Amino acid sequence: MSTLYDLHCHSTASDGTLSPEALVERAAAAGVTHLALTDHDSTDGVSRARKAAASHGLSLVPGVEISVTWEARVVHIVGLHIDIGHADLQAGLASLRSHRDWRAGEIARKLAKEGIDGALEGAAEFASGPVISRTHFARFLVRKGRAMSVRDVFKHYLVRGKPGYVAGTWAALADAVGWIRAAGGLAVVAHPARYEFTGAKLRKLLSEFRECGGQALEVVSGSHSRDDIVRMSRFAQELGLAASAGSDYHGPENPWVELGRLSPLPQGLSPIWTSASWPGQPTH
Ligand code: AMP
Ligand code: MN
Ligand code: MN
Ligand code: MN
Repeated sequence: MSTLYDLHCHSTASDGTLSPEALVERAAAAGVTHLALTDHDSTDGVSRARKAAASHGLSLVPGVEISVTWEARVVHIVGLHIDIGHADLQAGLASLRSHRDWRAGEIARKLAKEGIDGALEGAAEFASGPVISRTHFARFLVRKGRAMSVRDVFKHYLVRGKPGYVAGTWAALADAVGWIRAAGGLAVVAHPARYEFTGAKLRKLLSEFRECGGQALEVVSGSHSRDDIVRMSRFAQELGLAASAGSDYHGPENPWVELGRLSPLPQGLSPIWTSASWPGQPTH
């Protein structure tokens, strides 16, 4: 039987718009055989996704996407095949969610100065899980008519240098990788091209990541161009990292990204699902 891996997506447990069940159903319909649910700083959707996966004959990889601050920039680290019951991991994620709650208040305070009232309550209406994200603020601002699209809200309000931006201090790289490894998982640098780092800076991140115990680079991502894929393949090879692939699907509102609709991994890379520490691989 042929396989189709999609190792990065979001449900209503963070800033996705589909429930874990609806997400799994859609992935199965798209032909995905192995799906990782990787919500931001939460594993709340995993149990429900796992149950749904069982009835669709799909393999559900328990995952998470951890917010990290590295050299004053935000970087995302995906954990795959984690034990969601692990205490250190859950304590780390709980502290990040508290930080999100604090940041949400700060964002609302800054938006109020721009004449936008009620943003905290408004954003919370869009958040049905334990995580409050900038995406929820963006959906609220679109509803308020402040911008035409979520993308526009980010551009004008929610990114560095804009009035609703609050930097925050997220997990340290070594801590995030440490929690994932402690929980028996594999750590992946998510959507590396999104950071727009220079080659030297990305090399530095990836070297530190590998030294902390990180294993893979998300070479194929819903947000990567063909050129990004080629460039990131070179980094994976140079740094001796395995390669991962994930759509970073957030819901049908973004039709340019679809579950399972991914370019194949370029030849010459080591797919993370063939690595010795991926569950189900023969041991030597
Ligand atoms: P947060 O983790 O709450 O700071 O929000 C980050 C999330 O916002 C990402 O995971 C994306 O889903 C979304 N996001 C970030 N930048 C943009 C953008 N320029 N346009 C649309 N969505 C974005
Ligand atoms: Mn997101
Ligand atoms: Mn991300
Ligand atoms: Mn993501």
